[in-house]
Amino acid sequence: MPKCEECKNFFPWEDNPRKGDCVERAVDPRQAYYKAKPVNADQDSADCSSFQKK
Ligand code: SF4
Repeated sequence: MPKCEECKNFFPWEDNPRKGDCVERAVDPRQAYYKAKPVNADQDSADCSSFQKK
């Protein structure tokens, strides 16, 4: 099973690498932007449509 820590969008926190930010690039008709949310490094990413292998 792939996990968030194996995903290109995962950026581990320096003070706790078991957690990190999931940063995704989003595009709407007027602009591109980034959205970030906290995730666990070992979170199962099987159901995530944004998973990208590092
Ligand atoms: S939630 Fe999805 S996009 Fe975000 S780090 Fe995990 S697998 Fe990657």
